[in-house]
Amino acid sequence: MLMHMSKMTTIVLGSGTSQGVPMIGCRCAVCQSTDPRDKRTRSSLYVATPHVRLLVDTTPDLRQQSLREGLDHIDAVLFTHAHADHIMGFDDLRRFCEMKGGPLPIYGSEPTLAQIERVFFYAFNPGKKVPGYVHALPHRVTSPFQLGELEIAPLPVPHGSVFTLGFLFSHGGRKLLAYLNDCAAVPDPIRDTVAGVETLIIDGLRDMPHPTHLTVTGAVEAARAIGARQTFITHLTHEKNHADRERDLPSGVRAAYDGMKLDFELG
Ligand SMILES: [Zn+2]
Ligand SMILES: [Zn+2]
Ligand SMILES: [Zn+2]
Repeated sequence: MLMHMSKMTTIVLGSGTSQGVPMIGCRCAVCQSTDPRDKRTRSSLYVATPHVRLLVDTTPDLRQQSLREGLDHIDAVLFTHAHADHIMGFDDLRRFCEMKGGPLPIYGSEPTLAQIERVFFYAFNPGKKVPGYVHALPHRVTSPFQLGELEIAPLPVPHGSVFTLGFLFSHGGRKLLAYLNDCAAVPDPIRDTVAGVETLIIDGLRDMPHPTHLTVTGAVEAARAIGARQTFITHLTHEKNHADRERDLPSGVRAAYDGMKLDFELG
């Protein structure tokens, strides 16, 4: 690859809420929609540069998301929090460990990694390295870190009784992308950290208020306060179909959908 053409590519692997859309047993118009953008797998993101390929969260849909997007290599996984819709595809990392031929570094907060180590204990047993199993190397995140060309800043945001880590991806001081899924609010210090970001992907569950998630209106207000150049709402329920949702959003704000790709020139 020519270095002057170097870019960061991101793919929204999933844009849906914890139960996914369509929801099991639901006969609503959105769950029966034939628009592919109304098929929302659980929320997750893929970020790739010439030097590093990252996964944010391992949803229960990770296998299908990886097959759909043709993913065949992951250098590291960033975890936002340990709710089931963000970690339950962890065991499917075994293929990525196999193809990589070595352990997979995983990044998250202390409580998030403790939960993952409890649920998937067999991947963290140094005395029992079974070939073909997941072999993860945990990294407790408390401050910004570097992976490949990217500076990555953790962004703790409130999410009910837990904190979610959002992530800010920067390159050479340029704030490229902030990913803030599963949050009930964006505290002032986080808003200042991501101020002026080029692209924001943010939780906007639905119109109806929810105790642990931003509403669409709340997400739009947060995006305005941050001053994001463009914003995509994610972690969506079956409340509204994609086309109607987009029609209602102000300029500069769109609805994310599964398979949505965004390219960032790294210069
Ligand atoms: Zn979630
Ligand atoms: Zn439905
Ligand atoms: Zn959650």
